[in-house]
Amino acid sequence: MDAALNQIFFPQTYQELFSRWAKHPDAVPYAGGTMLFSLQGSRTPALPRKLISLDKLAELRRISRTERYLEVGAMVKLSDIIYLGKIVPEALTRCLEGIANPQVRNLATIGGNICFKDRRMDGSAPMIALDALYELRSAQSSRWVSASRFSSLPGPINLGPQELLSRIRIPLEQWNYTICKKYPAAGTNNSGGFMVFILKNQKDTLTDLRIVFTGSLILRDKKSESILVGRRLPLERKDIHTFMDHWRIYLSAIHSMDDLLLEKVNNFVKTSLLALADG
Ligand SMILES: Cc1cc2nc3c(=O)[nH]c(=O)nc-3n(C[C@H](O)[C@H](O)[C@H](O)COP(=O)(O)OP(=O)(O)OC[C@H]3O[C@@H](n4cnc5c(N)ncnc54)[C@H](O)[C@@H]3O)c2cc1C
Repeated sequence: MDAALNQIFFPQTYQELFSRWAKHPDAVPYAGGTMLFSLQGSRTPALPRKLISLDKLAELRRISRTERYLEVGAMVKLSDIIYLGKIVPEALTRCLEGIANPQVRNLATIGGNICFKDRRMDGSAPMIALDALYELRSAQSSRWVSASRFSSLPGPINLGPQELLSRIRIPLEQWNYTICKKYPAAGTNNSGGFMVFILKNQKDTLTDLRIVFTGSLILRDKKSESILVGRRLPLERKDIHTFMDHWRIYLSAIHSMDDLLLEKVNNFVKTSLLALADG
C-alpha cells in the first residue's frame, strides 16, 4: 500500500468536516478507533486510506440534560456515560459496563458503537428499548431518526453517504424492572448480541414492556409485548403462556439466526417473565 496516499483530517467545525468530506467522499469517520482497529487482522493495521477524525469537534462531546431527556454527543466515551451515574437508564449503564474492558471503554465512543455497519453492536439494544432518537447531520441538513428505524435489520444502518451521527437523545423515564443479558459469539470472546427486558409498573399493573435483542439481527415483537400490557402484577401463568405462544410464533419466522442463540433468547424471556409470576 502507498503510505503517501494515506490522509487523516482533523476538522474543528461541521463546515470544515463536510467540505473535506465532499472533496474526499471515500473518507471514513474515525471516532475512538477501537472497532476500526479491532477489524485489522495483521500486526500493521490497514486502516481506510482516508480518515476524518471527529476528535476536534467539541460539539460531539457535549452532554446535556433536561427533565425528560439525556442528550449525549456521538463522541462521548462509553466510560463517560457510565460515570454519569444514576441519571442514566439502568439498561444502558448495564449494557455499556459489559462492553470490553475499562481501557477500551475509555476510548470507544457511543457513536462508534451505534454506527458500526456490519452488525448492530450492544448499545443499539437499550437505545431501541428506551426509544432513543439519533440526530444525523449532513452538509445540507440535520434530521432526527428513532433508534429502531436507524438500526433496523436486515439491511444497512439508516445513514446516508457523508452523513454523520451527531447526537443521541435518551428519554429519562422511570423503568421499574430491568434485566439484561449479553451473549458471547460462539467460540469467541466477541459479543454475539445483547438483550434488554424492561417494564413499567403502576399500582401493580404492568403499563409498558419492551424486549429487544440486537446482534446479527434485531428481535422485537410489539404484538407479543402488548399481550401483557395492562395485566396485574404478579402475572398470571396463563398470560405468560399466551405471551410465550405468540413469542415462539414470532421466533419461528426467524431463519437467519443460530438455533442455539434463538433458544437462549427464548429461555431468557421465559425466565424473566416467570420471575414476575404469582407463586
Ligand atoms: C477488545 C474489544 C472488545 C469489544 N467488545 C465489544 C462488546 O462486547 N460489545 C460491543 O458492542 N462492542 C464491542 N467492541 C467494539 C467497539 O469497540 C465498540 O462498539 C465501540 O463503541 C466502537 O466505538 P469507536 O469510537 O471506537 O468506533 P470507531 O472504531 O472509531 O468506529 C466504528 C465505526 O463507526 C463509524 N463511526 C464512528 N463514529 C461515527 C459517527 N459519529 N457518525 C457516523 N459514523 C461513525 C466509523 O466510521 C466506523 O465505521 C469491542 C472492541 C474491542 C477492541
